[in-house]
Amino acid sequence: MAIKQLTETIINQIAAGEVIERPASVVKELVENAIDAGATHIDIVTAGGGKNLIRVSDNGSGIPFDELTLAVARHCTSKLTDNVHDIRALGFRGEALPSIGSVSRLSMKSRIAEADSGFEINVHGGRLEGPRPTPMNGGTIAEVRDLFFATPARLKFMKTDRAEASAISDVVKRVAIAFPHIRFSIAGSDRTPLDLAATGAGSAGMLERISQVLGKEFPENAIAIDAMRDGVRLSGFAGIPAFNRANSLQQFAYVNGRPVRDKQIWGAIRGAYADVISRDRHPVVVLFLNLDPALVDVNVHPAKADVRFRDPGLVRGLIVGAIREALGQSGIRAATSGAEAMLNSFRRGGIEPVRPAAAQRWQGAAAVNQNYNVQQSPYRPFETEPAASHNGGGFAETVQAFLYDGAAALAADTRAGMAEAPQELLSAPLGAARAQIHSNYIVSQTEDSLVIVDQHAAHERLVYEALKNALHSKPLPAQMLLIPEIVDLPEEDVGRLVAHAETLARFGLGIESFGPGAIAVRETPSMLGEIDTQKLIRDLADEIAEHDTSDGLKAILDHVAATMACHGSVRAGRRLKPDEMNALLRQMEETPGSGTCNHGRPTYIELKLTDIERLFGRR
Ligand code: ADP
Ligand code: MG
Repeated sequence: MAIKQLTETIINQIAAGEVIERPASVVKELVENAIDAGATHIDIVTAGGGKNLIRVSDNGSGIPFDELTLAVARHCTSKLTDNVHDIRALGFRGEALPSIGSVSRLSMKSRIAEADSGFEINVHGGRLEGPRPTPMNGGTIAEVRDLFFATPARLKFMKTDRAEASAISDVVKRVAIAFPHIRFSIAGSDRTPLDLAATGAGSAGMLERISQVLGKEFPENAIAIDAMRDGVRLSGFAGIPAFNRANSLQQFAYVNGRPVRDKQIWGAIRGAYADVISRDRHPVVVLFLNLDPALVDVNVHPAKADVRFRDPGLVRGLIVGAIREALGQSGIRAATSGAEAMLNSFRRGGIEPVRPAAAQRWQGAAAVNQNYNVQQSPYRPFETEPAASHNGGGFAETVQAFLYDGAAALAADTRAGMAEAPQELLSAPLGAARAQIHSNYIVSQTEDSLVIVDQHAAHERLVYEALKNALHSKPLPAQMLLIPEIVDLPEEDVGRLVAHAETLARFGLGIESFGPGAIAVRETPSMLGEIDTQKLIRDLADEIAEHDTSDGLKAILDHVAATMACHGSVRAGRRLKPDEMNALLRQMEETPGSGTCNHGRPTYIELKLTDIERLFGRR
């Protein structure tokens, strides 16, 4: 076949293959154009998941009549000067409109403030029509019908209307986070409408927009970040570890306002949370990176979601450092969403309405009051002798006696040192331990709340922190086994474990090779108590194998420490004395990150007294 120049339409369709993957990509391009045009109000309407119709209307600058033809022509843009390294707008490639026009029926209507009328231009499958006058208010209306009608092969890859419609919402929400001063709305027969009102300026406005998108629990469970290094500014919000998700869809990153999906940024976020969230859970994070456009290349891929930093190490260090510092400062904060969920479960509980029944019971009591005597009641709650004058009285006197006895019993308890906690314990963040229930939950009381600690999870976290500490301070105490435990393992695993024997010894785990296919365990960490040594050794071998080649030594040791902590079970199901409980609470307060266990679950929940009062309808 002879060589010939491709037609303009084919060239545009090839470009569309890269830029326009699905309806959501069209929405992204059109919304970005509206933002670049300075719009403060952007309305989006879709039908059939965007395959039948996408309409994006804005109140931006508009396109002058004599530029409409250029706007839909390839490689025509108003956003780039001579320097491809100085990109300040979201668009710059001059590719979106001609690409969209080559694979759909595109209509652009636009009116600038100075003009008496608007103008419309159409591009249907690459064929140009217009421009001609059309009545409209200022701004631009971009309408795309029958997407991919001209490239049926691409149409076959579309998902259901519902999936495409929700991908469109995701794109809009993602970009909306970076532009809180713009009002966005999405509507259409294929969806429930969404209206994001414009919010105020500054970080308060930003946070308000984020909570419109992510839900109002996010601000309550996030810590603000603001850091600067070598001209790169990082701001945003880091979700606390307990507020985690099963996937990373709730991670938002922006470079100079542009939403990006960048592997380096994801990697840095994962690194920052590695210690506090298990590998199969994901934090919720919103990060804004702002830097000189010359220090970042956004022209890596036509869809512009990838970026390349001039100094990737700087950016990674900045993200990891800032998030860790923020999490560190937040100390032992637990997720309030846990308390919220708990409140809801109380409210939703299937308990019968108590009022009518209780009222009846009181009436019943009143009816028999002449004969009622607490002394003869089988339900006599206290053993104390009531004063003689209370004997055989009427109902009121009986109740009086009851209360009196209760107070006396309480006073007796106080003498035994149980009922009242010392003030200094009450004012500690985790309060004074009052009881242990179901052999695992410590119930404690602060000045204004009730705290429930999962003692197993808390202990696991404390062990993990102690193990990590043992790496650079004194080794952990070990417990000698009377008879060494022999663990049979594949030869490579034996090799890997023995290579780390010295470090494991610092953790209190004494191992040596026992022939080619076995390990002899002589000592185990005292802190872990009774453990399944066989299982521990196998888990450690797996952990080291998984991280040996990819990660550095520090990462391996972190994983080893986490695995060992998981095996420690000394406090699970163990009854604790009040002193022991209080000691655990104090240790938690002193240990950074102890608000979540190594798997990112909370180690304690807190229910404020005000919430308890709400539950009882007192507020
Ligand atoms: P790019 O955004 O990369 O410049 P596009 O093909 O998306 O390329 O748009 C081409 C040009 O059309 C833009 O540079 C801009 O001048 C104009 N334009 C497109 N959409 C709008 C809009 N909504 N409001 C004002 N101008 C627009
Ligand atoms: Mg554009």
